[in-house]
Amino acid sequence: MPLAPRWSAPVDRQTVRGLAAVLGTSNAEAHRAGSSPIISTRPSPHNRATRLPALQVPWLGQSVKLAGGFTIAAGDASFSAVVALQLPKPKMCAMSPLYPLRFRPILRRYIWGGRKLGSVLGKELGEGDDYAESWEVVDHGEDQSVVTDGPLAGATLAELVAGRGPELFGMHPPQPRFPLLLKFLDANRKLSLQVHPDDQRARRLDPPDLGKTEAWVVLAAEPDSVIYAGLKPGVDRQQLAQHIQQGAAQESVHRFQPRPGDCVFLPSGVVHAIGAGLLIAEIQQASDTTYRLFDWNRVGADGQPRPLHIEQGLEATDYAAGPVYPQPPRPTGQSHIERLVECEKFVLDRWRLDGPRTLGGDHRFHIVSVIEGQLTVAGDAGKQPLAKGSTVLLPAAVGEVELSPLGAVEFLDAYLPQDFSKA
Ligand SMILES: [Zn+2]
Repeated sequence: MPLAPRWSAPVDRQTVRGLAAVLGTSNAEAHRAGSSPIISTRPSPHNRATRLPALQVPWLGQSVKLAGGFTIAAGDASFSAVVALQLPKPKMCAMSPLYPLRFRPILRRYIWGGRKLGSVLGKELGEGDDYAESWEVVDHGEDQSVVTDGPLAGATLAELVAGRGPELFGMHPPQPRFPLLLKFLDANRKLSLQVHPDDQRARRLDPPDLGKTEAWVVLAAEPDSVIYAGLKPGVDRQQLAQHIQQGAAQESVHRFQPRPGDCVFLPSGVVHAIGAGLLIAEIQQASDTTYRLFDWNRVGADGQPRPLHIEQGLEATDYAAGPVYPQPPRPTGQSHIERLVECEKFVLDRWRLDGPRTLGGDHRFHIVSVIEGQLTVAGDAGKQPLAKGSTVLLPAAVGEVELSPLGAVEFLDAYLPQDFSKA
């Protein structure tokens, strides 16, 4: 879509944030917008305005000017116009040493979302009550985490993987893409019943994406919230297909009432659904291959049922897996760390600290995501401590890092297992 030279709707705060997002500039920078020019762009493959030295945003009720003479718009259509600039790709970020990296969260709005990503996890939300997911660390096609702080601000995770692989991955061989994805989910309403294939099936059913093994940590649960996970004993393909056809797939699926702190491990092939009233942190393989088996006989925003992928879903389901229960945490030999999951795709630990400790120095990256309290991380370029709902990626090259909690803090630490080979 060509860039039309002019629109004239007023610019509001939301528009500035949207523009900042499209240009690969952090929200924080957009916020410093006052009544004078503010958003400066930085090189990144997702930053199509890179040849435009500055984006001028006279604050309210004014237009947005791009150097080069374009006046672009407020209002919805303007964002795609910015993307359509299509300027040449800039060079990879400068070779400054790596440091703890914070990223701009990518918010996803779906019909089942709510507002807890803001009210509980501190994300900046706009209007509306359908904020469903906050992608904290992601390198998946167009979905890219963008560094917000320090010398590498504006770089995407894909750029870091391509340009700084050995420093990022340490003992693990450089990867074609960042293998893990961490997100928060606010299930104000229940999600569809779904299943993800394993790597082999994904290659066959949905190339070139990967399979998806995932794990959830329940951050908040309403008293009657339910998780659906795994098939009831004895349910085979025929039985599941029959229940789906009868509009009663829940008859085939095991369910339980989770409590805050529960961890649920879902290897690829395990049928699952997040019930209503749950706030969840999820670590997963960086894949988007989801087969929706059943949508509770409901319709989407347009009044139509959402598409199902029953054949692929039945094919991807592991009928031998059986019911899933919360994972009993395992001791690690260090009293402040418990192991929630250890599988071939990732390891997930939960730390509880009330005094300083070190983390890392084991020649691999760590994703640290705070789920209670506040934490400062040595070398972090962010100006505030990491608060509940904040995530930082520690590249392997930063080595051992000092963590200082402000009071009691709880966080998740996700990393690759020793023998991980390739995403
Ligand atoms: Zn899933």
